[in-house]
Amino acid sequence: MSKIIVVGGNHAGTAAVNTILENYPGNEVVVIEANTNTSFLGCGMAMWIGNQTVGAPESLFYSSPEKLGAAGAKVLVCTEVTDIDFENKTVTYAPSERATADSPGASGTESYDKLILSTGSLPIIPNLPGKDLENVQQVKLYQDAQVVIDKLDANPDLKHITVVGAGYIGVELAEAFKRHGKEVAMVDIAPTCLAGYYDAEFSALMADNMKEHGIDCKFGQGVEAILGDTKVTGIRTSEEEFATDMVILAIGFRPNNALGKDRLELFRNGAYLVNKNQQTSDPDVFAVGDCATVYDNAIKDTNYIALATNAVRSGIVAAHNACGTPLESAGVQGSNGICIFGFKLVSTGITLAKAEKFGIEALATDFEDYQKPGFIEENEKVKIRIVYEKSSRRILGMQCASTYDMSSLNHMFSLAIQEGITIDKLKLLDIFFLPHFNQPYNYITMAALGAE
Ligand SMILES: Cc1cc2nc3c(=O)[nH]c(=O)nc-3n(C[C@H](O)[C@H](O)[C@H](O)COP(=O)(O)OP(=O)(O)OC[C@H]3O[C@@H](n4cnc5c(N)ncnc54)[C@H](O)[C@@H]3O)c2cc1C
Repeated sequence: MSKIIVVGGNHAGTAAVNTILENYPGNEVVVIEANTNTSFLGCGMAMWIGNQTVGAPESLFYSSPEKLGAAGAKVLVCTEVTDIDFENKTVTYAPSERATADSPGASGTESYDKLILSTGSLPIIPNLPGKDLENVQQVKLYQDAQVVIDKLDANPDLKHITVVGAGYIGVELAEAFKRHGKEVAMVDIAPTCLAGYYDAEFSALMADNMKEHGIDCKFGQGVEAILGDTKVTGIRTSEEEFATDMVILAIGFRPNNALGKDRLELFRNGAYLVNKNQQTSDPDVFAVGDCATVYDNAIKDTNYIALATNAVRSGIVAAHNACGTPLESAGVQGSNGICIFGFKLVSTGITLAKAEKFGIEALATDFEDYQKPGFIEENEKVKIRIVYEKSSRRILGMQCASTYDMSSLNHMFSLAIQEGITIDKLKLLDIFFLPHFNQPYNYITMAALGAE
């Protein structure tokens, strides 16, 4: 029987705790969480802001401190771990800034046999003039979204909103504010949106979709200052100055390594460097989720990819290892998807542009067709790109765009990348056909057959 302390109780921490409690009932588990809650689906935040959710905000939580407690964990919320003594294997904690009279948090020191760090990530706040003005917001926590929603409800004069950063969070938020009836501008220094996940041919389709829905896309512009005396009144970019009433900073996240940065080995961006067992450079300390690295099967190397799905799986892996069952992560492909005003993009693995960045010589094969045969009335076009390594011909990535829900395709390509399948293996793969779903000459086969 071991005592395991889990620091941080969101996706990664909750997955670790549940795995330990379900599979290793003899262990003592302590979860320490600085916030008031656990397991918040931040992924639903934009939909909450955009009035697209049922029963929010409660429905955005899939567990709770009470549920974890009932399952057998000791749960301390509104409590922040302030120090870890890695030599003597103790953690020290104190009430966090979220502590209230009703939920006062706790202070003390506890010893551990194994420690799981699931402290997540923090929004990157650029050091811009005006960044501390009223109505400059960030969106990471449940409370952040609540503040934005309260402000929108209380101030109808907040008419124009600028989202800085056109990654997947920025793009989702731009849609949310538009659905809220606001005028929306989106600024990014990159020449397009979603540049990290899609090649230009695909991100351009999303940019067109955003523009068609009235979002003012200001790409290729760096923000230089947020303007105003006390409140935001405008924004200045490298290209122009314009009036705006609220600025949302969504330029990315950095791993929250505050507790172990001076003691544990770090990746180049500061994430805890872990092996496939989620073990850090201290064998009794595991790191999971957004604060840790992943093994990226597309580039066959360590990488940093912050996603809730990676967080959950890494929490499961760490839990088994912490309880004495050796289990290796299968690695990840960064599989992701996005749906904006009904237009969908999914991708897994790396793009052609990223392959070049990583020094991998790669080729791409594209195909576009209707999802179903011509005689089917409701039919939508689908565009696919498969990226593969020139020398080995192994599949490195896939991108797909459509108004049709083709998202389950992503899973197959994710597995193909994980297992090192070549583009040639895909050419004659048995892909079923039924007119309700697809075509006998379907776009997967056709793209593969078209590979050089
Ligand atoms: C708006 C938005 C949309 C997103 N959409 C998606 C999506 O659609 N799909 C997807 O896969 N991912 C999405 N993500 C990313 C996903 O939310 C993160 O990858 C995920 O939250 C990581 O989980 P985590 O548990 O590792 O870290 P976090 O969620 O960052 O949680 C870390 C926890 O640790 C606690 N903590 C930190 N330090 C301490 C301390 N010293 N003491 C005690 N507690 C501490 C924090 O309070 C926090 O609760 C989205 C993120 C955002 C912000």
